[in-house]
Amino acid sequence: MEGNFTYKLDDTLYINLTNSCTNACTFCIRNGRDGLDGYDLWLERCPTAEEIIAEIPDPSVFPEIVFCGFGEPTMRLEVLKAVAKYIKNQGGITRLNTNGHGSLINKRDIVPELKGLIDTVSVSLNAGSKEEYDRVSVPQIDGAFEATVQFIKRSVEILPRTIATVVRVPGIDIEKARSLAEELGAEFRVRELEE
Ligand code: SF4
Repeated sequence: MEGNFTYKLDDTLYINLTNSCTNACTFCIRNGRDGLDGYDLWLERCPTAEEIIAEIPDPSVFPEIVFCGFGEPTMRLEVLKAVAKYIKNQGGITRLNTNGHGSLINKRDIVPELKGLIDTVSVSLNAGSKEEYDRVSVPQIDGAFEATVQFIKRSVEILPRTIATVVRVPGIDIEKARSLAEELGAEFRVRELEE
């Protein structure tokens, strides 16, 4: 089932928590697009946990349920946690797609709060250095690259699976990003722009 705040791509269910983000990536699909695969992902307002849960009567039918956007899900941490708790209690598998700014945004280390709620974290690392990161991800808050690195480090320590990703765009040294991800102990994945 898909509704106003959830959408299905292949068998995976995605939850659109917010359109707000602390980055302004040069490659962001929000630039000039309404959504993905026929789904309009611009929200008129952010959903409540109850509204999202109402759209997922049986979380166990999906191979994975992903918190994503069109924005940064950790900007709505309490809703994220409430919905993830419901999904886990019903036997579902969760993934968080994040820019890694969650602890910076919420002004505390939030990774321990995700333990038992999030199975996989996919963090947009997008660079092997701060200079590259600032150029491509165009953060709107100070300390974003350092916060992303720290978020990956904490996720590796605390959560079952952490993947650092890079989008293949000109000007990104993919091997440098791979080295950083591996140094942090995360899996590494290159995403093509159209994914
Ligand atoms: S982090 Fe994701 S949602 Fe935010 S600007 Fe970058 S691509 Fe867009």
